[in-house]
Amino acid sequence: MERKVAILLISDYGADSTRWKHELSSRFESIDFRVWPECGDKTDIDVIFMDTVLGPGHSFCDFPNLKWVGFIGHGVGYVLRDASLPADVIVTRLESGAMARSMAEYAVHAVLHHHLRVDDYKAQQDGRIWKRLPIAPASTKRAAVLGLGIIGRTTARYLLNLGFKVAGWSQTPKDIEGVKCVHGNDALPALLSESDFVIALLPDTERTKGLLDRKMLSCFKQGSYLVNLGRGSLIVEDDLVAALGQEKIAGADLDVFSTEPLPEHSPLWAHPRVRVTPHGGFASLDEEPYSEFCENYRLYLANKPMMHVADRARGY
Ligand code: NDP
Repeated sequence: MERKVAILLISDYGADSTRWKHELSSRFESIDFRVWPECGDKTDIDVIFMDTVLGPGHSFCDFPNLKWVGFIGHGVGYVLRDASLPADVIVTRLESGAMARSMAEYAVHAVLHHHLRVDDYKAQQDGRIWKRLPIAPASTKRAAVLGLGIIGRTTARYLLNLGFKVAGWSQTPKDIEGVKCVHGNDALPALLSESDFVIALLPDTERTKGLLDRKMLSCFKQGSYLVNLGRGSLIVEDDLVAALGQEKIAGADLDVFSTEPLPEHSPLWAHPRVRVTPHGGFASLDEEPYSEFCENYRLYLANKPMMHVADRARGY
């Protein structure tokens, strides 16, 4: 006989509560499924599945019997940094192949857009100019992927398959076939200086915050292209606007920002060489989160180690 477990779903990103309830209840007998903010007695709650922050005035301390927070996403940093989260509560995150493929498609699209000079051709079209532009082969260009989690590794593979030279940067050493892997802060300036494309897929941590500031942006290769799909806190946006102004950086595809939604007054909105998307780098997670969460729930019920436990010390 399964023990009764109260699960609370907290979503700001459109998690389908009917579907979550169905997926869990059809696999497990004794689920008491609740949806925020109609959560009833908070002392009942054992497990929270969430894709957002607890709103103002709320804290994990409101749930004294909480044992597990299952984050429905990859960027779990703000949950781990929440000072109200008790040390013994396990936090898991997604490591989704579907998310990784979707994000890699975004990155590839951004790289090819610039590589194939789509904007230059559009400008020519506007002037009714029929003129072929030189495009160097992909094999002569290097793409640096910052962050080699599942999304970074998938992106690196996609770019390799297209024939680009690919380098990767992480915190700890990595060995990925075909990818020149470097790690640690000391290796970053040289990597940036030899890369035509820089694709950032880093989490938001104390060590990544503001990493791409004026000094680091000055290390970029002249005319290189930046894609940020990880977290907005990585980039000092005023410094990026300055680097774009000096044409140090030829253009940028930005999906994440230091403040989201991107404020109306941000110069990034109207910048002619910046493309903005609203933190929508991934298109769809399909079936994956349900099966991943149900598998983890099985492990939770059996008191076994769960999959994809986030590391509080690392912050991701
Ligand atoms: P992880 O968060 O699991 O891994 C992060 C990678 O970054 C690891 O390779 C890690 O190195 C590296 N890293 C972390 N800190 C540093 C540092 N200080 N210096 C160098 N490398 C560092 O990767 P995922 O692929 O799962 O996700 C990447 C990020 O993408 C998420 O954290 C999230 O913020 C973002 N994201 C954005 C989405 C969007 O819609 N735009 C959707 C999904 C995710 P090491 O391997 O050595 O630990």
